[in-house]
Amino acid sequence: MVVIGGDAAGMSAASQARRLRGPEELEIVAFERSHSASYSACGIPYWVGGDVGHRDELVARTPQEHRRRGIDLRMRTEAVEIDVPGRRVRARDLESGAESWTDYDKLVIATGARPVRPRLPGIDAPGVHGVQTLDDGQALLDTLAGLEGRRAVVVGAGYIGVEMAEALLKRGFDVTVVNRGEQPMATLDPDMGRLVHEAMDGLGITTVNGAEVTKILTGPDTGSPDVPGGTRERVRAVATEEGEFPADVVVLGIGVEPETTLARAAGLPLGTHGGLLTDLSMRVRGYDHIWAGGDCVEVLDLVSGRERHIPLGTHANKHGQIIGAGAGGGYATFPGVVGTAVSKVCDLEIARTGLLEKEALAVGLRFVTVTVESTSRAGYYPDAAPMTVKMLAERRTGRLLGVQIVGREGAAKRVDVAAVALTAGMTVERMTALDLGYAPPFSPVWDPVLVAARKATAAVARAG
Ligand SMILES: Cc1cc2nc3c(=O)[nH]c(=O)nc-3n(C[C@H](O)[C@H](O)[C@H](O)COP(=O)(O)OP(=O)(O)OC[C@H]3O[C@@H](n4cnc5c(N)ncnc54)[C@H](O)[C@@H]3O)c2cc1C
Repeated sequence: MVVIGGDAAGMSAASQARRLRGPEELEIVAFERSHSASYSACGIPYWVGGDVGHRDELVARTPQEHRRRGIDLRMRTEAVEIDVPGRRVRARDLESGAESWTDYDKLVIATGARPVRPRLPGIDAPGVHGVQTLDDGQALLDTLAGLEGRRAVVVGAGYIGVEMAEALLKRGFDVTVVNRGEQPMATLDPDMGRLVHEAMDGLGITTVNGAEVTKILTGPDTGSPDVPGGTRERVRAVATEEGEFPADVVVLGIGVEPETTLARAAGLPLGTHGGLLTDLSMRVRGYDHIWAGGDCVEVLDLVSGRERHIPLGTHANKHGQIIGAGAGGGYATFPGVVGTAVSKVCDLEIARTGLLEKEALAVGLRFVTVTVESTSRAGYYPDAAPMTVKMLAERRTGRLLGVQIVGREGAAKRVDVAAVALTAGMTVERMTALDLGYAPPFSPVWDPVLVAARKATAAVARAG
């Protein structure tokens, strides 16, 4: 079994296959081009922000530990070609440059996603950072440590952008988030995104919406007089059509796209979002000996019935388990997703599951929406915090289509109740009878999600 990509999906697959088949039954070789395997990119914002002390804490299992379990994990080794008819992979040792072919009976493609990096003037200047890998996180921390100025610009206001805004704020930076969208968090409807915007304002984070970055402006790096031939250039500002925003450091969080360069060259099937297409057992469609999972594949959205690219660690780990079971000779399937995601900026929690209004419209669904204001605990209980819940339900059938929640402590994970209801195909009326736990420290007697379900039930009835 050959695995390309040594992080969440790839190493989960390798580990699960190894659990099912010993080294005498199944030889496992894994290629990873970076310096880290089995790491949590999800933890990078909290490492940069100082909540997590050291990069090693973000590594679930070291290469040595994988090797002790009988997985031949080859670090700093990049797969450069898949020969599908010949069932072999060409890989390059990035230290020595040496290349060799490795034969396979079973191939796992787990190459993840690559960050979008528009070809703008100045984008490669010192001081401009991505946050995709632990090496990226380390490079950003090194820059922050040597900075004299305290102005940071984050480009992009998706969940990575807002999490990085929090991290930089915690490190004492003046933070500006430059966002192309109407509101931060395009994964929410704009009315819910506005709540995030207001909260970010309250935290002292400046958010500039509707601003397309046109170039990164650079200037002399006075902090590096040792550069031969004089001072070099480094980032000084981010230019947009809305104006220029001074920056001593820039963090890019503009999104990712599936890393399917090798798969495309090998002629494997890709979907409209550029991700690999698989069947329910995570086998690449039409190929019974090739599996793919994680950020490099498209997933079935159970609510809309469409294929989507939703690059999340929670899916990548599950895909890995399923691939490992299949490649290890067992059987498991991945049914699809309902689009659940949670994040936070300081004490503001943000959650969504199911469809946004525009996503429901795009697939021809007609729906009602309701928005309720409630609290995280009984109103009289100390520290009860406000929470806004928005719910979409299909007209006529009353089927739950989506939920978005913005609030303080205890808000985000409430979305899981809605994720279960979506997975079960429940109507909002059925949801109102859910036997959810209640005590004053945990919720009002009617949980905010149930209040929204009641209101949505009434709205469906009114809409006819
Ligand atoms: C800052 C940040 C925060 C995040 N927070 C969350 C979160 O809170 N919740 C959540 O669910 N998800 C989160 N994610 C997303 C999550 O990290 C990814 O969905 C997950 O890592 C995907 O796992 P993967 O194995 O598919 O891909 P990756 O983690 O990208 O791993 C792919 C690996 O393949 C290697 N590779 C690629 N091509 C080759 C090749 N040709 N040869 C050899 N090696 C190759 C890469 O070096 C990489 O290590 C976050 C991501 C980032 C960047």
